[in-house]
Amino acid sequence: MIHDNIEKSELMLFGIPASPGIAHGPVFRFLHDEVRVATYEVSESDQEEEINRFLEALEMTKSEIRTIREDVAKNLGEKEAGIFDAHMLVLEDRALIEDVKKEVRESGENVEKCVHRVTEKYLAFFDQLEDKYLRERAVDLRDISRRLQRCLSGTTASGTAFFDVPKVLVSEDLTPSDTAALDRSKVLGIATDLGGQTSHSVIMARASGVPAVVGLRGLTDKLSEGDELLIDGFEGVAIINPSETTLFRYGKVDVQRKKLLNLVDEEGELPAETADGKPLKIWANADTPPEVKKALGAGCLGVGLYRTESLFLKTNSLPSEDDQYEEYLRMVEASEGKQITIRTLDLGGDKLLEGWNHQKEANPFMGFRAIRYCLSNPKIFLDQLQAILRASAHGDVRIMLPMISGIGEVIRTKELIEEAKSILDLRKQSYDPNIKVGCMIETPAAVAICDLLAQESDFFCVGTNDLVQYLLAVDRVNNEIAFLYEPHHPAVLRSLKKVAEVANKQGLPVTVCGEIAGDPHFLPLLIGLGFDSFSASAAMVPELKFFARRFSMDEVEDVTQNAESKFRPSEIKELIKDFYESRIAQAV
Ligand code: PEP
Ligand code: MG
Repeated sequence: MIHDNIEKSELMLFGIPASPGIAHGPVFRFLHDEVRVATYEVSESDQEEEINRFLEALEMTKSEIRTIREDVAKNLGEKEAGIFDAHMLVLEDRALIEDVKKEVRESGENVEKCVHRVTEKYLAFFDQLEDKYLRERAVDLRDISRRLQRCLSGTTASGTAFFDVPKVLVSEDLTPSDTAALDRSKVLGIATDLGGQTSHSVIMARASGVPAVVGLRGLTDKLSEGDELLIDGFEGVAIINPSETTLFRYGKVDVQRKKLLNLVDEEGELPAETADGKPLKIWANADTPPEVKKALGAGCLGVGLYRTESLFLKTNSLPSEDDQYEEYLRMVEASEGKQITIRTLDLGGDKLLEGWNHQKEANPFMGFRAIRYCLSNPKIFLDQLQAILRASAHGDVRIMLPMISGIGEVIRTKELIEEAKSILDLRKQSYDPNIKVGCMIETPAAVAICDLLAQESDFFCVGTNDLVQYLLAVDRVNNEIAFLYEPHHPAVLRSLKKVAEVANKQGLPVTVCGEIAGDPHFLPLLIGLGFDSFSASAAMVPELKFFARRFSMDEVEDVTQNAESKFRPSEIKELIKDFYESRIAQAV
């Protein structure tokens, strides 16, 4: 029983800062994949009540699906919304409904357990089928089963369409597709038990300016009904039921932050350059037309990284060439003639299509991912290349290849691009015949052979999120070792310097596009290592520009030399943090 008059005590947990900002509010517990199924016995006299609960949950689930369908139709189109018609069919399936009722009457157990047992029986049947269409029905059934369980348990409605007031979203972990489905206007902040700083769901949170803390082990188990949560996305702290004093303290931090953001806003129109006028090229990492618009409004030169897998994850499908073309065209048009770098599909790692029977891998980030997946599925790859090429007829498009670890991958892809061009020629469809093709430098192998890759590339883009994980052998989403994920590591600095040197020597445009490119702390150091082009979430761009105007190239040199003389990542981290804070303190 909850006694409202007893003040709940404050509990502080430490995790990993993932997206800057302070958030405070009621908790929304987001359950995904594994819904815990309660099990208990139900007397015969209560069985009809159990069945009624089931029928009510069916209605609630239908209403959820209808709302989601409307949202998807509005935001993505009628065709994508059609996916949810199949969900409705499952919810109206008489055989399934009758099976659950029968199970309640025969087993004497609660309806959650009975729904679980019946759907698992159906799923086991679907799983063994070869037929792709029927397997896709299994995905619908799995989704429906989760939604039903959530409605029955009353802990959450799935998605955030049903928030009445904005809340702090708490989950064991969030997949990129969970995050894609969130209504961001209702999410104050995100806190998860698991996850790392550069997991793709965190990147999406950062892109939308939502504060986030991850790796807060055990947080979900420590929360009870009615709890409030404060999260500090700068320091990686979460406080359950913060006291008045804590709220006051964080209120002050928040005020300081708002003051800084106001100043940043006032300077929004100023160019991207250092205090002594060294120009910087700032691009945006953007996956949707509204993000592109926001980026152009923030003064970005164009889109430096468009992660096309976002489309695949959003629809949980492999979209056809035409569907992809339409989406890429929307992105190109939103770019208003400015350059847009479209990265080919980077599925795998933590980005999997739900229910698509991806083979289980012991080391998914080192496995069947990105360019490897595409080159093994030439039909899927050609569809995408054709779609990108067609979009290139309407703007300044470049193609970028993820996870390159050998020159053969680049050469083979360029052959496929030529093949795609011939197909378009036959179809009399236009494209940019001189489209530029570049590599992501995000594996240690790519760093080691960047001089060779340069000969086959029109540009480089350094993906530090992956480069850090592969260089330091630290899985970017494993919170057990998150403390070892150190972008400040001397090994990272040395690798970055080498790439910048080679690219600059060969006159090859090079951009840094991992998360550190959007972190102002890193800016002087990256400039000092030889970069002048950065691609970051549009949300971070005004702050980057603001900070750039607060130091000169002499200071860049000092900071960089100093950092290069340090042995430990923690010393380098401290050094750039101190530099950042001293300059910001002078400004605010
Ligand atoms: C990177 O690895 O730094 C990068 C930009 O790509 P992603 O985060 O999508 O792997
Ligand atoms: Mg990457």
